[in-house]
Amino acid sequence: MKSTTDIHALIREIPDFPKPGILFRDITTLLQNADGLRATIDLMAEQAVNHQPDCIVGIESRGFIFGMPLAYQLGLSFIPVRKPGKLPAAVHQVSYALEYGQDSLEVHQDALDTGHRPLIVDDLLATGGTAAATAKLIEQTGATIAGFSFVIELSELNGRQKLPDGIPITTLLSY
Ligand code: 5GP
Repeated sequence: MKSTTDIHALIREIPDFPKPGILFRDITTLLQNADGLRATIDLMAEQAVNHQPDCIVGIESRGFIFGMPLAYQLGLSFIPVRKPGKLPAAVHQVSYALEYGQDSLEVHQDALDTGHRPLIVDDLLATGGTAAATAKLIEQTGATIAGFSFVIELSELNGRQKLPDGIPITTLLSY
């Protein structure tokens, strides 16, 4: 298996999760399929090399699931971007607006500097709020973002418009 059509078929759609009116794309059914999981990481790696990253930044928590094997496959290091209060050493922090309220993301201050070219990885791009906040967080470190990589993009939500101009964005599946 190495086609995005096969990967698409392994994503389960759950209506009204986590709240009424939302159609949730469940990637656990993809993870449960060994061939599908391998094909997903292989295809993400083929796209990622074009951006010449020197490390992978994964966004908690589903960005860890795809970002870590991608880092391993490409022979790169992995840097977790985490929810507040989880990282033990000194952090950079960014706050961003949610539909109701706000949230924050953190990265260790000593994880990245001006010499780095991270690829930012998450499972899914929806409104773009999470990835845009991560980009701001990474910019605080002085690093140059090499690109964004998502398994799924919900294109009707126009999330890519929230991301910084001129940085490549790759997605395996677009809904
Ligand atoms: P955004 O900030 O772009 O609106 O939402 C993207 C974030 O929310 C990602 O971190 C992603 O994991 C999560 N997310 C939002 N909707 C879905 C969905 O339908 N399926 C999955 N797997 N994650 C989602």
